[in-house]
Amino acid sequence: MPRTREKVAAIVLDCRDYGESDQIMTFFCQELGRMSGIAKGAKRSQKRFVNKLELFTSLSLHYSVSRPGSLAFIAEAELVDSFLNLRQDAHLFLMASVMSELIMAATQELEGDDGIFALLEWGLRSLHSRYPALTILSFFQIRFLERIGYRPHLYSCCQCKQPFRETIRYSFDNRHGGLVCEQCQDQEMIPLTTTLSPGTIKILEAAQNCPLHRLHRLQLSGLGVGESLSFLHRYQQHLLQRDICSLKLLNEASWQI
Ligand SMILES: [Zn+2]
Repeated sequence: MPRTREKVAAIVLDCRDYGESDQIMTFFCQELGRMSGIAKGAKRSQKRFVNKLELFTSLSLHYSVSRPGSLAFIAEAELVDSFLNLRQDAHLFLMASVMSELIMAATQELEGDDGIFALLEWGLRSLHSRYPALTILSFFQIRFLERIGYRPHLYSCCQCKQPFRETIRYSFDNRHGGLVCEQCQDQEMIPLTTTLSPGTIKILEAAQNCPLHRLHRLQLSGLGVGESLSFLHRYQQHLLQRDICSLKLLNEASWQI
């Protein structure tokens, strides 16, 4: 049966050698979501694929699928944006890796895009353009959690329901996915929560509600970056029941940079 060739906007999440000349690819595609495919002869074909099937590149992909559930056959790729800085700067590479690892861990094959493609494109482009990288990574994660159905609840205490007030101390409770105020927090909860200062909460809540194209206008302080990355790491660990290796590495080593 002849295969119908399709075209889709895609970003490379993962790339592995297969045999002598092929590559198994994982993309995140507009509308389709995560998609795996095989690029036959990718290591030999200078014309069809040279410098295109690199991590984090944005492509226009020509592909076909012989039957549901099988690997897509990648026929050709046109480069939209190489995001070269992300592969030339180790710190940016690690941050882009957090984005791709989160998407790999929290999405299934071909379950739809649900706004994640635009968010990933925004995140990679912002890192490549050298906007403050740790702020970009924090905002990417807070928006990604919403896209997968776990928007952090930051506008009131999830126990007493009192609206957020700048004069009260709060922590983030992973089990309830929201803030808990100092009056509602008991000793048993402390290991399951992460302290967030009022300034950090305000910026993160603004980042949840801001249109993507205006998100660069918001800034986190040094304290805000540390608190955000720490709370997001622990919350995602709790939700996914596994660690995100690149995020763990980033939290352990580099957010002071
Ligand atoms: Zn409360």
